[in-house]
Amino acid sequence: MSDRSSKRACDLLVEAPWLLPVAPQNVALPDHAVAILNGRIAAVGPASELRADYAPQEHVRVDDGILTPGLVNAHCHAAMTLLRGAGEDLPLQAWLQDRIWPLEAALVDEDFVRIGTTLAAAEMLTSGTTTFTDMYFFPEIVAEVACRTGMRVQLAFPIFNGANVWASGVDECFHKGLALHDDYRGDSHVLVAFGPHAPYTVDQKSLEKILMLSQEINLGVHIHLHENAAEVAEARAQHGQTWVERLADIGLLNPQLQATHMTQLTRQEIDLVAANGVHIVHCPHSNLKLASGICPTTELAAAGCNIALGTDGASSNNTLNLLQEARTASLLAKVQAGRADAGNAHDVLAMATLGGARALGREDELGSIEVGKRADLVAFTPTGFAAQPLLDVIGSLIHGAPTHQARHVWVEGHALVRDGSLTTIDTQKLHRDVEQQAQRVRGAL
Ligand SMILES: [Zn+2]
Repeated sequence: MSDRSSKRACDLLVEAPWLLPVAPQNVALPDHAVAILNGRIAAVGPASELRADYAPQEHVRVDDGILTPGLVNAHCHAAMTLLRGAGEDLPLQAWLQDRIWPLEAALVDEDFVRIGTTLAAAEMLTSGTTTFTDMYFFPEIVAEVACRTGMRVQLAFPIFNGANVWASGVDECFHKGLALHDDYRGDSHVLVAFGPHAPYTVDQKSLEKILMLSQEINLGVHIHLHENAAEVAEARAQHGQTWVERLADIGLLNPQLQATHMTQLTRQEIDLVAANGVHIVHCPHSNLKLASGICPTTELAAAGCNIALGTDGASSNNTLNLLQEARTASLLAKVQAGRADAGNAHDVLAMATLGGARALGREDELGSIEVGKRADLVAFTPTGFAAQPLLDVIGSLIHGAPTHQARHVWVEGHALVRDGSLTTIDTQKLHRDVEQQAQRVRGAL
């Protein structure tokens, strides 16, 4: 079809020297293009064929770019960008109890969350993340920021025993979180999940209630689990069983559970979570920085678990760059398994995309470049001398992560990053707002 009038219409045609669809696995397609219509992927194929077939409204050719699905950051506390650097060199419990919780009690309000989440959105978008899971106070404000910036979010609304800055107690957590679910029911950008902080901060009665409600209304459950050895030892001392065993008794080990961290697992526990379809969210930088441990991803994957990647909050990382997280996941898997072929580049790219989509129950819509899926795409471009030469595309993207820039980012076919610039965030205002909040944080340190 060479005559323009006989060509098919599409909103956007994106072509690049390389396309990594993620599904099918381990494929790098040269000189390919994606046609997008009404926010969805209408066609994927050789660029010359799609150019001949389609008359797009907008045509973007990304010279030296690598097209990938939008990255899915499966665990974050976005507004904690404002606490970046506020608790350096502390182990988990001291970092959390002595540093972070008192600061949050003193500082966190709607403005803090709005500004911190906008800063996180700017950082995530410019590093290729299009969807994130957030577990933080004032999730209704996080939803507003996601809608304003065009990102997708899973709001794991916080559930804690006792009062916090968002709710007077556990009952109000449920009440406000379920109201949020009603507000965004059916929304393609905002998904709501239960976010019990951890088994040691949520009592058994509330965990049982979460199980009942999550099955009744079919929502995900997102939790910190087996983050470090001290937490598991405490569980054994107090309850005579680990938290994984306790959740198994309650019935919460099921395909709706997104278990974050999982650095301390016995062989039996690996088999138990795999047999029950639990999704694992691996946060390598946070686990390393807090000296928590290493999630046994190779063994979990071999047992059949789906694995997603998360950055955790910026206060324990300190960045929200998921591609760099994928690189570290690969390196850790190799050294942990004692095999250089463990954690290969494709496997960790799949964790950062389709694995995340699967954990959120959205693998039919997100996580790979396939016809019919929503058009969430990133064009990474290599920058600097370290990116040359390009001999192994997937390996270069993952292991050269620091040299790759998200030059264009689309969510549902809308450009949220164009030529490296954010289209939905006023960055000058953001810098002013962040500085104002930073003064409050400095005053509380
Ligand atoms: Zn976390």
